[in-house]
Amino acid sequence: MNVNDSEVILSILGGCGYTLTENMEEADLILANTCSVRDNAEQRIHGRIEQFLLAKKANRNVRIGIVGCMAERMKEELLEGGKVDLVCGPDSYRRLPELVGKLRAGQKAIDVQLSRSETYAEIIPHRLDKTGVSAFISIMRGCNNVCSYCVVPYTRGVERSREPESIVAEARDLENKGYREITLLGQNVDSYRFTAEDGSVLNFAGLLAKVAEAVPDMRIRFSTSNPHDLSDEVLETMAAHDNICRHIHLPVQSGSNAMLEKMRRKYTREWYLERVAAIRRIIPDCGLSTDVIAGFCGETLEDHLATLSLMDEVGFDSAFMFQYSERPGTLAARHYADDVPAEEKTRRLNEIISHQVRSSARRYGSQIGLTHRVLIEGPSHKSASDLCGRASNNMMCVFPDLQPGVDRKGRYADVRVVGSTSATLLCEEI
Ligand code: SAH
Ligand code: SF4
Repeated sequence: MNVNDSEVILSILGGCGYTLTENMEEADLILANTCSVRDNAEQRIHGRIEQFLLAKKANRNVRIGIVGCMAERMKEELLEGGKVDLVCGPDSYRRLPELVGKLRAGQKAIDVQLSRSETYAEIIPHRLDKTGVSAFISIMRGCNNVCSYCVVPYTRGVERSREPESIVAEARDLENKGYREITLLGQNVDSYRFTAEDGSVLNFAGLLAKVAEAVPDMRIRFSTSNPHDLSDEVLETMAAHDNICRHIHLPVQSGSNAMLEKMRRKYTREWYLERVAAIRRIIPDCGLSTDVIAGFCGETLEDHLATLSLMDEVGFDSAFMFQYSERPGTLAARHYADDVPAEEKTRRLNEIISHQVRSSARRYGSQIGLTHRVLIEGPSHKSASDLCGRASNNMMCVFPDLQPGVDRKGRYADVRVVGSTSATLLCEEI
């Protein structure tokens, strides 16, 4: 989501003559787009600011700005101490040219106003990816949930859905530019809901179908699904469209009902397992990944074991796994003690990771002998004589390049899986 926001920012600043440089020494303006979701993400930014200040020593005219969630969370505090010149929250990017103008006049600049309607709908993002194969489209902004650990609703504001025609127009534009895959982005895509002027309502299943049908030669992915809101209608829409990839990222966070309730996730372990069963019933070959938090407030050993047993029961292909990090201002920070000792959080996280590595190895191993259609992203990172790309289920496939010298990026290859690791399918082209 931040990469996509950076693309919007570049498009807005590009409109008033700014161009992107990869070289910090050359820059007139350095912007850091920031994440507040965990404390270590914020700490990294403080480190980056020190690096930017070195660039400022070499060129006194360079200005430093913090944009995104940390700008929204910390506001004026970031300007104190004089290290940073500009602070701009996620809903204020249209004002960046004006704010940069203020910097030129020697003033500090800040705008952290959140909006109920901003979706940057008609702004065509300046794409940052280098492969030209896969791109993000933001379909909504903000979040209306109040998961007790999460800072996102405070930094990105209330949920709003983007007008569908502008989403379809962006998908078509990407197709014309040669892209082959799009990922529809939102904090909770299943609650996408757009009401047109005539009163008609489009939900996420409707949007998925509309996009899949508008660009039938493109692959469609989406993220993130919330287990509470993932409907059978979405699953059936996926099953009915070949170009919607067979993969769902379905963050579970914990396998313990006591923790899920305290997290205010609005579902139970049983509900989650039923949604997984629905996925496997309606889309049997669907890939499944998740997010897990270790050591949330008051988590007992029993709660932790419930997470491990859920992970074993589901058998996720992959997972993003985190230690709980208390975020100022959230419900959890206000109401619950962050009482699992740091070393115990680490121990539990490591246990979660080793369960996941075993599960990934099993899931990837179960693909041996199967065939997949892979969208080629380019040479593999490890060997220039191999190509890599993802199968529809999101598993990374690597296979020997049978046509060296031919640029096959963005084309499809049919492969058979002959081996696996816990993160890669080793394949041969058929
Ligand atoms: N909207 C998405 C997730 C957004 S944040 C959803 O609801 O699934 C991405 C992930 O970061 C979350 O799924 C969660 O696992 C993790 N996360 C969020 N807040 C956190 C915190 N305070 N400490 C640790 N992990 C956190
Ligand atoms: Fe945060 Fe929950 Fe919203 Fe996801 S759904 S962004 S975890 S509040």
